[in-house]
Amino acid sequence: MRIWLDGTLRDDHDAKVSVLDHGLTVGDGVFETVKAQDGTLFALTRHLDRLTRSARGLGLPDPDLDEVRRACAAVVAEHPVPLGRLRITYTGGPSPLGSERGDGRPTLTVALGETARRPDTTAVITVPWVRNERSAVAGLKTTSYAENVVALARAHGEGASEALFANTVGRLCEGTGSNVFVVLDGELHTPPLSSGCLAGITRALAVEWTGAKETDLPFDVLERAEEVFLTSTLRDVQAVHRVDGRTLAAAPGPVTAKAMRIFEERAASDIDP
Ligand code: PLP
Repeated sequence: MRIWLDGTLRDDHDAKVSVLDHGLTVGDGVFETVKAQDGTLFALTRHLDRLTRSARGLGLPDPDLDEVRRACAAVVAEHPVPLGRLRITYTGGPSPLGSERGDGRPTLTVALGETARRPDTTAVITVPWVRNERSAVAGLKTTSYAENVVALARAHGEGASEALFANTVGRLCEGTGSNVFVVLDGELHTPPLSSGCLAGITRALAVEWTGAKETDLPFDVLERAEEVFLTSTLRDVQAVHRVDGRTLAAAPGPVTAKAMRIFEERAASDIDP
């Protein structure tokens, strides 16, 4: 595998970062996962905007987006896979132990791995741990993913592919790597950004293209929603057929199936919506 680091493509065994990189020592980094499909990157401009917003949120210098675009194009050209996840990682860079910040030379890496198309439906669990909507890093896509790793391991242990969090005031928030939509009385809803969820790019497009309402919802809405679906870069719109012990009849239901169709059509006609 060839990885972009320090302004050039390198073989993965030559792509080395300092053990004192702040991204490694304190998790001071941000990232994006972009869908690569037959040599094109979906919604790259939105991903780069969010990368900049996340970097600013952590107090990192703005990434050089011309370099990031060059890096993405070079990595995609090296790996002509039908479906891939392109990972952009941007950290505080190497820094003496104990310092609050990287030394001003951030580390940028871009890598791409092949991935398989996700199934149309999946099972999810709820977890007792919460997203903190008042956290300094709420809504930022940081590399500090430990809590998500723990929650996802529990989901996998229970035969599910995603774990859903409430926030500190008991409202529905998001999954470890996805946003969540529910259908109530035939209407489509998703939690607002004030719930502490990530401003998912797939979420924003799904809201724009389906007219879903952004609604503050109690966590136990998952016990009675008629339909539930997830959105993320690699899932697109994915129906949920089981939440904890509850099976949802005939997933994808009609509202979800319509959202899947609209998303597929619109995404196919515009790669950088
Ligand atoms: N929420 C979290 C915590 C995520 O990590 C992700 C993506 O990785 C999402 C939501 C979905 O965002 P997107 O649609 O931009 O992939």
